[in-house]
Amino acid sequence: MNNEELWSQALNDIELAVSRANFVTWFKDTHILDFADGVVTVGAPNGFSKEWLENKFHKFILKSLRSRVPEIRAINYSIAASSTPQAARIKPRKEFAPQPEEQLEFKDFYVDPKTNLNPKYALDTFIVGSFNELAHAAALAVIKNPGRVYNPLFIYGGVGLGKTHLLQAIGNAILKNGPPKKIYYISSEKFSNELVSSIQNNAVHNFKEKYRDFDLLVVDDVQFFSNKTKTQEEFFYTFNALHEAGKQVVFSSDRPPKSIPDIGERLLSRMEAGVIVDISEPEYESRLAILKSKAAERKIGLPETTLELIAMLIQKNIRELEGALNTIYMQSKYQNRVLSNDDVKSILSKNIKPKNAATPSQIIKTVAEFYDIPEKSIYEHTRKTEIVRPRQVAMYLIREDLKGSYPFIGQKFGGMDHTTAIHAYEKIIQETKKDSKLEEEIKRIREKYQNQQK
Ligand code: ADP
Ligand code: MG
Repeated sequence: MNNEELWSQALNDIELAVSRANFVTWFKDTHILDFADGVVTVGAPNGFSKEWLENKFHKFILKSLRSRVPEIRAINYSIAASSTPQAARIKPRKEFAPQPEEQLEFKDFYVDPKTNLNPKYALDTFIVGSFNELAHAAALAVIKNPGRVYNPLFIYGGVGLGKTHLLQAIGNAILKNGPPKKIYYISSEKFSNELVSSIQNNAVHNFKEKYRDFDLLVVDDVQFFSNKTKTQEEFFYTFNALHEAGKQVVFSSDRPPKSIPDIGERLLSRMEAGVIVDISEPEYESRLAILKSKAAERKIGLPETTLELIAMLIQKNIRELEGALNTIYMQSKYQNRVLSNDDVKSILSKNIKPKNAATPSQIIKTVAEFYDIPEKSIYEHTRKTEIVRPRQVAMYLIREDLKGSYPFIGQKFGGMDHTTAIHAYEKIIQETKKDSKLEEEIKRIREKYQNQQK
């Protein structure tokens, strides 16, 4: 195992055990710099992060690394150049640096080794919106009647959209509801590693016994079963034994069963035999609701407009959303002031996925095609509604994606005043908050001109 693999496995443990916001904040851009004579040197992007790893996470990091490489005796922490110059420029003012105790609650670390469940993943902190309501409903049905309906339950969706949270919440809820049940959560990778070591240690029998004894078995990220023939075979038998005995099985994956490469027919058909639900990307209202709930939960006082801006900017996933909330909160604390919209944007700019460099003309052309209007009409000073909206969308996109200045945008659109561009930009921001159809349209237009680039 090289250093990179070792660290990435350790990060997997840590990620499950600490709150995601903490994870993103403190473990982003960390790596193993060196490993010699039983001493591992962990690199952190800045002094602040280094101090945290040392003071708050050391025991945990050591434990996790040692569980993989027992000869590790000690860990050093060291500052390695930050890869995020944007954020690094805004230096914390030391006197406002929050004390670690303020951030980290020890329960964040608590994973019950008997179940692998972390109680922080609860149903009542899981925000439901149209993007995940089916998955949530299926989870409720399983909790109410484990093994009876929806067996297996298969939940899929992209990273950071709440699969692990929901899977763990199912386990926690069944645990709480009683009567007592044997519940076990495991990632497909750990399942596979465990199987391999049980083969090496001549303990396959124990392995089989252990897994056939559960009332609820939750297997996270089954896309990693791909290509592992031996694991698939063993899991297939485990699944059958459980299923026949009326025990509940829940899976997650980053894609539907059919799209997992190199998965055997038999196992595939088992995975597809129950119900399959997806979690998609949260729309603006859900993103804002999630931010508000996280802010309340963690007693983060940020103005509503800041939360709205974060919800606007961070569109991809909930993990990023939490990370952004944390970063903005920290920065406003260090600087001891309310951050302006421009501050927030510049701090978050590194999190926003890089846009392909389309030109203003390409954007205008794509918008015209999308709304099925003649391109040249966008440049005309007309107030016809069927033209005004597309023009506003185009102005918004040029401002947002290309960072075009307002006077530049005005000029580009047949010499309009820069206030028209400002108005258009702000109008679209307001409208997308209320109108998810418009948000969707903008997303599709973006996809179009971004794909043209490739
Ligand atoms: P995945 O397993 O799909 O990659 P996670 O379950 O790890 O995603 O979710 C990432 C983070 O976002 C976690 O901190 C989780 O608690 C949070 N999260 C995800 N979905 C929701 C939700 N619907 N409501 C509240 N928090 C959520
Ligand atoms: Mg997950």
